[in-house]
Amino acid sequence: MYFLCIGVFHSARIMHMKSLFAISLLILWQASAGAVALDLAEQKTIPIGIHTEFLQETDTALGLKEAMAAYREGRFQGSDNDILTFGVGSRPLWLRIPIHNPLHIPLRQRLAIETSWLDYIDVYFIDSGRPPEVFHTGDRYGFAERPLTGRFFAFDHHFLPGDAAIFIRVETPDPMVLPIYLSSVEAYSVREQDGGYLYGFLYGLIVALLGYNLMLFLSLRAWRYFYFAIYLGMFLVMNMSYTGHAYMWLWPTLPAWQLWANHVLILLFPMTGLIFATIFLNTKSSLPLLHKAVITACIVFSVLESLAILAQAQAVALIVSFSFIFAFSLTMVYMGGVSILNGNKSAKYFLIASVAHVTGSSITAMTTWGLIPYSIIGYHAIEIGMMLDAVLLAMALADQFRHVQEQRLRAEHLTMLDPLTGINNRRAFYELVSPLWNRAIDEQQDISVIMLDIDKFKSINDKYGHRQGDEVLSQVAQMLKECMRTSDIIARWGGEEFIVLLPMTPKPAVMVIAERCRQRLSSLSLDLAGEKHNLTVSLGVAHTDQPRGSLDELVERADVHLYEAKRKGRNRVYPALELA
Ligand code: GH3
Ligand code: MG
Ligand code: MG
Repeated sequence: MYFLCIGVFHSARIMHMKSLFAISLLILWQASAGAVALDLAEQKTIPIGIHTEFLQETDTALGLKEAMAAYREGRFQGSDNDILTFGVGSRPLWLRIPIHNPLHIPLRQRLAIETSWLDYIDVYFIDSGRPPEVFHTGDRYGFAERPLTGRFFAFDHHFLPGDAAIFIRVETPDPMVLPIYLSSVEAYSVREQDGGYLYGFLYGLIVALLGYNLMLFLSLRAWRYFYFAIYLGMFLVMNMSYTGHAYMWLWPTLPAWQLWANHVLILLFPMTGLIFATIFLNTKSSLPLLHKAVITACIVFSVLESLAILAQAQAVALIVSFSFIFAFSLTMVYMGGVSILNGNKSAKYFLIASVAHVTGSSITAMTTWGLIPYSIIGYHAIEIGMMLDAVLLAMALADQFRHVQEQRLRAEHLTMLDPLTGINNRRAFYELVSPLWNRAIDEQQDISVIMLDIDKFKSINDKYGHRQGDEVLSQVAQMLKECMRTSDIIARWGGEEFIVLLPMTPKPAVMVIAERCRQRLSSLSLDLAGEKHNLTVSLGVAHTDQPRGSLDELVERADVHLYEAKRKGRNRVYPALELA
């Protein structure tokens, strides 16, 4: 049916130029009857929809002659919007724009129809006193065949002084959205340059984020960066496709692919977004039902889209893609919200990102559908939303990385601490002292070790129970910390034995510290099962002012000295202060 329609249209539009010339005078005479003529002396910077009248074809395709006749019969109607929109699968459309050139010289103007996906466009410039200037273009034609090279459709014409009219026929099963501009070539170039900056900024940002995330993926081997990069890449290609950049730069010789590119990419972009979301939010385990629904929807919509493409049903394929991208936007917001409720901290950035994206898309949709007045910001809100989305999702990834890192550090920290006393364990001791020991060797500094053991600790356990014993261990560890300086490294060596490394500490100083510590611990009055209890400790001290080799030798010496302290009757420091 679709191709039959096009066939009829093609034969109908072959008409003789002279007959067109003859009726053009009649048309111009009637020009003032419809929409307000566009005065070429006034430069228009916004789309000229309100100067346009339109007629939708019914069953048969109209040629210019029939369209002009229809206009004379008053079948054209005016438009209140800057941009004319007729939705998906619209019937072919005829437009008429009345023009007035108040000057005494011909004026060169550029007509631009700024929708990249229109299949067939026929433009007729009709001045009084000469044959119409006619152009046939559209994205069904190879890119090289365009009257003017560019991502949109543009046509130059010299308007003679006085009245003229432009007739345009547009046929496309895709959304009939018609931002039409008429301006000087210079004004057109300025607008094009502004657009160039906007897309340069957008694409630059997306490419930079994409490359950065690919690098993160390669170095961290975390797949979420890879899927985010794919999502960004898909947005880039999709945006380039529907803004006409892709036909110009990426596939100018592939009109057959151009026909389906938007449909396919508008489906693939949200699909990669959903895959990224499932990985980022870990929906497989946190939201298994939703996860299954998302995967199923991706498969079902891919099948539907493939069937539509096989059946060459462009409008159906587009409805499939649009339904999917619409459902995608809502699902992303929903997934973000539910994940926040589930306690996923990084989901808050994800949710804000999705809301930015949805808001931008909605504003653009409302602008092109004429629900809110046209503005440059409104028209490009989708791109602004996507920039925010991309940046916020990158922040979400960074935030997630921070959480994972924090958890890892916390876990690592926990493996370094003695769970009973909360001070370093033996493993942490070695890790912490190793740089200090190496520095002591390099700079030949004094360094000392104290080994401390609670006397007759077994009896505390036996008398008051293991639990009370634990409590005593904690209190001794606490007191030991208070005895030492912040630069000293304290650890639980095992059982009721503790070790302290004292960097840059000469022998007299360590002897004083050890003795002071013994005294403070022996004065500690413990409350055990309602009874007051005092404990004593023995300490072995080892010192060197010529550190070399391994620290173990010094630790061993401190251990031997501790044994000596025990042997000599406990509750003492060995070597004794007076011997030192
Ligand atoms: P000495 O003066 O010779 O050091 O006598 P001691 O009783 O302190 O030494 P011994 O090595 O004979 O006993 C140490 C006790 O410390 C035995 C063990 O049950 C106890 N102990 C080791 N680790 C813990 C612990 O984590 N909690 C408690 N409550 N007791 C512990
Ligand atoms: Mg002991
Ligand atoms: Mg012991």
